[in-house]
Amino acid sequence: MTLANGRPYLAIPGPSVMPDRVLAAMHRAAPNIYEGDLIDMVGSLRADLKAVACSTQNLAIYIGNGHATWEAANSNVFRRGDTAIVLATGRFGHGWAENARLLGVDTAITDFGKAAPIDLERAEAALRAHPDARAVMVTHVDTATSARNDVAAVRRLMDDLGHPGLLMVDCIASLGCDEFRFDAWGADVMIAASQKGLMTPPGLGFVFFSDKALEACKGSDLRTPYWDWTPRNAAQWFYENWYGTAPTHHLFGLREALDMIHEEGIEAVWDRHSRLASAVWAAAEAWGREGAFRLNIADPQHRGHSVTAARLSGEDGTRLRRWTEHQAGVTLGIGLGMAELDDPAGHAFFRIAHMGHVNAHMTLGALAVMDAGMKALGIAHGSGALDAAARALA
Ligand SMILES: *Cc1c(COP(=O)(O)O)cnc(C)c1O
Repeated sequence: MTLANGRPYLAIPGPSVMPDRVLAAMHRAAPNIYEGDLIDMVGSLRADLKAVACSTQNLAIYIGNGHATWEAANSNVFRRGDTAIVLATGRFGHGWAENARLLGVDTAITDFGKAAPIDLERAEAALRAHPDARAVMVTHVDTATSARNDVAAVRRLMDDLGHPGLLMVDCIASLGCDEFRFDAWGADVMIAASQKGLMTPPGLGFVFFSDKALEACKGSDLRTPYWDWTPRNAAQWFYENWYGTAPTHHLFGLREALDMIHEEGIEAVWDRHSRLASAVWAAAEAWGREGAFRLNIADPQHRGHSVTAARLSGEDGTRLRRWTEHQAGVTLGIGLGMAELDDPAGHAFFRIAHMGHVNAHMTLGALAVMDAGMKALGIAHGSGALDAAARALA
């Protein structure tokens, strides 16, 4: 007997839940890519994407996943032999840096570990040590650790020190979930992908960039024709946006997702994520009063609002994930890059996504299922978690 056979809930931090409206918008015959509806729609898409990013500046859209935007951003910004200052707060920060390194960039990595945000004193030391670095790379919310970084504070630090570098931000896990203001926070490059807060299947990547970055990167010599952001940003002809056939159905899905975000209002979307995250954290605090349950990031100020990394002990993270998926229809995320000496496979860790098309009953349901799973598996935990979660939303 299983209790899993109803509508399943994929609570992993991307791909996220796709709204029925998005799926329905994609359910259509192949469109003409030379004239008609699709072409008319793309202008509005670009404007509405910039609105979600709080940007008035530039945007290149690629057919690709998040890794593709890593490479797109790196190849447009850097020249061979440049230095990049990397402020890494989890596996994704290291991944973006590795992409730069493989392209021929010297990466000066400051590692803040697996359970902490950027520390500004150490960031200052890195900036002082590399005054000529072309860019500073930051992950807004690192999906592996769920650490959330203060991007505006990094910009202020760069300005205070007169550091001329470009500020590059990975918002793949946070755009459309956590507050992010491209213009006001002084970002120069920001990357995002379709399958997280934007509620659309994986396959579209976005590189937002400032006028300053457009100008500063004109001589970048790592750029190849496909990744060059210049024609994609300034496309006069529809075809130039894509360097080939457009990602037709993704665009119809994204159009619907952006309508949904617009109807709710971006600030209300941020508030919803913040409230749902607070319910998860309230439950976690109660669970943690007995047994091994801990959130990975101790300080709520430094936690992302779209994903929460947590740990149990031994293999209990994996055992709990298996139970919630097979017995109750809720798929939690695996721990990523969190292995430790006494847990080489990282089986203590797991992640709960509350990203994108998620509401109170989904989050409360996932928490109730986790509570049931710990009871079923005999995993020690404090009581009162569901009450605490309900209070957080009441
Ligand atoms: C998901 C994610 C990526 C990678 O995206 P893919 O589409 O899997 O390539 C990179 N950075 C962050 C912060 C992410 O959350």
